[in-house]
Amino acid sequence: MMTCATVNLDLGSFGGALVTGEIKFLERNLPQYAREEAEKLVLQFYGIEGEFHPLAGERDLNYRVEASGKSYVFKISNEGDDEDVVNFQVEALRHIRAHDASLPVPDVFTDRDGSYYRRVTGSSGSSNIIRLVEYLEGVPAYDTKVSRKTCREIGRMMGRMDVALSSFYHHAARKNDHPWDTSNCLRFQPFVDHIAEADAREILNRVFDRYRDHVKPRLDRTRHQIIHHDAHSGNVIVDPDDHERITGLIDFGDMLHGPIVADLAVAADAASEHNPDLLTTIADVASGFDDSYPLTEDEIDLVFDVVVTRYALTAAITAARDALAPDEPPHLVSYEPYVTAVDALLKIGHEVGTRELRRTCRFPTYCPTTPDEASSNAIEDELLQKRHAYLGEKATHFYERPMHFERARGAYLYATDGHAYLDCYNNVPQVGHCNPHVVRAIARQAAALNTNTRYMYSSILEYAERLTGKLAPHLDACIFVNSGSEANDIAWQMAKIVTGNSGGLLMEDAYHGITGPIQEFSPSHPDTRLPPHLQGLLVPDTYRGPYREDTPDVAAKYAADADRAIADLATAGHKLAAFMIDSALCSSGVPDVPDTYMREVEQRVRAAGGLMICDEVQSGFGRMGQWWGHEFHGVKADIVTMGKPVGNGHPLGVIVTTAGILNRFIDATGLFSTFGGNTVACAAGNAVLDVIERDDLIENGRDVGDYLRARLHDLAATQPLIGNVRGTGMLAGLEFVTDREQRTPATKETLQLLELMRQRRVLVGKEGRDGNILKLRPPLVFEREHADQLVAALDDALKELV
Ligand code: PMP
Repeated sequence: MMTCATVNLDLGSFGGALVTGEIKFLERNLPQYAREEAEKLVLQFYGIEGEFHPLAGERDLNYRVEASGKSYVFKISNEGDDEDVVNFQVEALRHIRAHDASLPVPDVFTDRDGSYYRRVTGSSGSSNIIRLVEYLEGVPAYDTKVSRKTCREIGRMMGRMDVALSSFYHHAARKNDHPWDTSNCLRFQPFVDHIAEADAREILNRVFDRYRDHVKPRLDRTRHQIIHHDAHSGNVIVDPDDHERITGLIDFGDMLHGPIVADLAVAADAASEHNPDLLTTIADVASGFDDSYPLTEDEIDLVFDVVVTRYALTAAITAARDALAPDEPPHLVSYEPYVTAVDALLKIGHEVGTRELRRTCRFPTYCPTTPDEASSNAIEDELLQKRHAYLGEKATHFYERPMHFERARGAYLYATDGHAYLDCYNNVPQVGHCNPHVVRAIARQAAALNTNTRYMYSSILEYAERLTGKLAPHLDACIFVNSGSEANDIAWQMAKIVTGNSGGLLMEDAYHGITGPIQEFSPSHPDTRLPPHLQGLLVPDTYRGPYREDTPDVAAKYAADADRAIADLATAGHKLAAFMIDSALCSSGVPDVPDTYMREVEQRVRAAGGLMICDEVQSGFGRMGQWWGHEFHGVKADIVTMGKPVGNGHPLGVIVTTAGILNRFIDATGLFSTFGGNTVACAAGNAVLDVIERDDLIENGRDVGDYLRARLHDLAATQPLIGNVRGTGMLAGLEFVTDREQRTPATKETLQLLELMRQRRVLVGKEGRDGNILKLRPPLVFEREHADQLVAALDDALKELV
């Protein structure tokens, strides 16, 4: 016979907390009531007479009662369970049923006095609480072959259960201390010593150590609430004729206040008893759970570890019971299958396991926080191979080997080597990578409605009103598309339709996009030849062009090239339809354009009957220290095109023009874009405007941009390779020369510099015909300290270059 009913768990100190406690786990101490006595109690208090069949239970004595076509469970609680704990269970069941009546949990019945439970004293002298609940028809999932679909259904049901319980609280939730409390599992680590096999001990200790050092601190920070915490396959009831249909969840005796992940982990570990492919089973349960109660990133990252821990806890409890209470009838047969499961999962590894769970629930790819170089290189090799195979070997990238990023925030991209890279290159995430407000707007709209402009919805109109409100009053109508290229394509079509002309002007090394007609507007690639209907203008570059900074009337000299170009078009039989201009002159290497140049060209364009298409894909949304680049140059736009930063990364392109132009164009073409201006894109667009406005990002861009250029000018004093510093707002160009007098392009050095900057974890890009210009377009959330980091890296890289 056992001598001790309780074990004092004084395990000393770990994790800074002293853990002591008394917990009953060695003896089940089942209530001693004969069937006749139970029958009498049910008759006395519930007025029910029926057939009684014993039911299994770990700590309660349970009878199934069949009476007048109805089935009940008569429960006689363990002597150790006080009224609070029973009240907790009754109230939880009532809450769940009230919250989500379709959840298959038992109803609870009142006795003749209207009470849900009462204390009685049995003939053996023990005092126990009795209650009557509904018997849920079906068979325990344990007795069936649990399919993958059933696993997902179990997950779904547990997710719904936890949604229902999320609005429930009971003061006894913290009192219900029991051995199966996963988050308190470290109390049981010492019992691992009772296991005979050294390798099993080693495996389990490894799990408990990891739990203490890595899992618990993170688990403690995840969502906690009252959870069922016992959805093993003996407690999940399924339809006898359709094992994939769940008809019940029973046994609320292990409920406690704990992490949601633990509820999922119990369900996952139990289901996996039936399936040797443990990881698939866990993933199925997790994805089902995630369907009805979306997991957070912190939670999905812990599921694998908590399942492993749960197995280890089960093994430890079972081993302890075997060793310390050999006479007690076993509840679980042996610790061995649990050790085997732990071993199998450890062989998969928490990183691979977590990656698979993330993939199943469509979380972004796992990005290890503590990477090991060898495994991240191996992953990259594989990706590179697939990249070559599926995207082509010529898919462009900037470095000797393309970088591997899986996540970003604000001004930083996080590579899978575990390091943060400062993004000074990419002008798409204008309001910062993964800006939370924009991300939420996209997600919320995607969850509500994603449709197109054939229907009415308010967000597109709110967006169009706000966007046109940022432009000159005559620009009052919008067309929405999906990219900058498309926007320019439409703008060019508009210009031809409205003017009836066919000729176009552009900068001689412009880039405006990828559609057929717009590729012709993009001679930035050295091999491109302009077709006869297009003419390129001399770039007004006073550092490298034919007219330098000290040339008198330099603006007029460059602008005069427009006369030449318009005349050449005429010779080729084309009257001018439009001049397409990127106000930032990005592909020309961000030259500082002489003050009146753009206005002087505009006059010539208008005189020739052409329109001004102002491509704001680069210069818009505050890049140049004010909302629009064409306003910076003081020109009037007929058509404005937008892309890249409009949706902060979500595909969205916009053409803004006058209502007159727009109507003539739609009349002529009947344009409709399936995705252009869809509800989700408009949510992104509105959110970008919100952030720019409320966080004063344009002012920030001006302030930090000026600071950055001032620091770059200072750097030029000690770094002779820097020939020229230029730009405006949060846009800077840095031209490298090997000889300042001759302004000899430092082409080779600039290429090396990109790689050296990458090694210093700063991303920059190069530009210009000679490839000797750094183009810096950081997000508008850039801070002075980011500018300092960029300048320090540049200084250091240039020193290495010398
Ligand atoms: N215009 C300019 C000035 C651009 O820089 C770009 C892209 N770099 C585009 C148009 C084309 O935009 P998208 O790649 O979205 O088609």
